[in-house]
Amino acid sequence: MLAQEAGARPCFGSHCDPGLARSTCGLDVVGAMSTLGSMTKKAESTHAAEAAVAAHYGMLLGIQSPWQVKRVELKLEAKRVDVELGHDASAAVACPECGRACPRYDHAPERQWRHLDVMQFMTVIRARVPRCQCPEHGVVTATVPWAEPHGRFTLMFEAFAVAVIEAARSFVQAMEILRLDWHTIQEIVERAVERGLLRRSTDEVRQVGMDEKNFGRGQDYVSVMTDLTGRRVLDVVKDRNTASGLKLWESLPPEQRQQVEAVAIDMSAEFAAAAKQAAPQAAIVYDRFHVSKHLNEAVDKVRRDEHRRLLEVGDESLTGSKYLWLQGACPEGDRALDFSELCERNLKTARAWCHKETFVEFWAQPDAISAQAFFRKWFGAARRSKLEPIKKTALTLQSHLQGLLNFFLHPITNAISEGFNSKIQAIKADARGFRRFENYRYRILFHCGKLDLLPVIR
Ligand SMILES: [Zn+2]
Repeated sequence: MLAQEAGARPCFGSHCDPGLARSTCGLDVVGAMSTLGSMTKKAESTHAAEAAVAAHYGMLLGIQSPWQVKRVELKLEAKRVDVELGHDASAAVACPECGRACPRYDHAPERQWRHLDVMQFMTVIRARVPRCQCPEHGVVTATVPWAEPHGRFTLMFEAFAVAVIEAARSFVQAMEILRLDWHTIQEIVERAVERGLLRRSTDEVRQVGMDEKNFGRGQDYVSVMTDLTGRRVLDVVKDRNTASGLKLWESLPPEQRQQVEAVAIDMSAEFAAAAKQAAPQAAIVYDRFHVSKHLNEAVDKVRRDEHRRLLEVGDESLTGSKYLWLQGACPEGDRALDFSELCERNLKTARAWCHKETFVEFWAQPDAISAQAFFRKWFGAARRSKLEPIKKTALTLQSHLQGLLNFFLHPITNAISEGFNSKIQAIKADARGFRRFENYRYRILFHCGKLDLLPVIR
């Protein structure tokens, strides 16, 4: 404002004579001072507002001394809030290796961590982390309380992401909610599983199950070990052979392996060989559902053979009857009549079905002695049946009899493992075929391992 204007007030600056009523420089100093005053007030109030916002964010983030919020920047276009943190210059820096309070050396270049969104705004924390000079460990970068070393997310975000991935129907849904790409989600899953495995206790594991699962297309299999009491997957390895069976046992520490009392497996030799080698004290229990699968296959072989012979003479009695013979009890409803008619005709398939169904009573015996007596009778009848597939299956069962009788001391099955099938199928379908087996393993352990997956929020 120029002094010549009406109402001009004198300048009292050092460059003007204070005795003069009017300033010699022509400036309206009083007006300028008033403007300056209001600017100062405005600046003060802006500063106070900024300090309040910083304090507010400090509380939201749980940031404590020597860290503090330096600045909060709202980027409307990018829908993002940047929170800049600073470390108190006078505070000592703790060595991440030994915890000793050391003098500050310098600062590492600025890093960023994604934090929980505020409203619809992505929140990013930025900071230059101090490096300290430790007499023992040299110049090292301090750890920050809000993130894991080398993490790109704050602990709170990581915990939220784990919860979202656990609850989401698919990876794609988790990607949409978290606004992250596939690889980042997979990395969060891997870190969570590694965290969970480090914390996992297997002290209580006494009964385990070993089972195979189809992986990918065709004949690719993976082997899965489950803790039958804890109802959780212990590990997943590639292939299904003795070596993979042994690898599964490594999911338990050596001293823990010796505490396992029983293992449920199917009747193939590989898992039995692995169990005998890794945990020789554990009783092998052949899984009853696999036994009934063998018997069902025998009945089906008899049916296929008989059906072919009947068709040769124009008899279509067995057409469409495959699933009638695979079920346990006599069917109800529309098919009941068909089934009883088929049973009344002295069909080989009906006889094979009777042998299979009679064996169900084996599992209902009160103890191993009664079960052995029952088996002897059943085996005799099956061997006299003149039905080759039934005779062959009877021999298989006889050669595995001890493992069948062990059921009466350790009544365990792999039903839990079968129960995981739907979850594992969903994981497989979601990934549309895993290119890397490791990804598949991590995902199964993430969803079926009952692991403590969350980071510890300090
Ligand atoms: Zn140190």
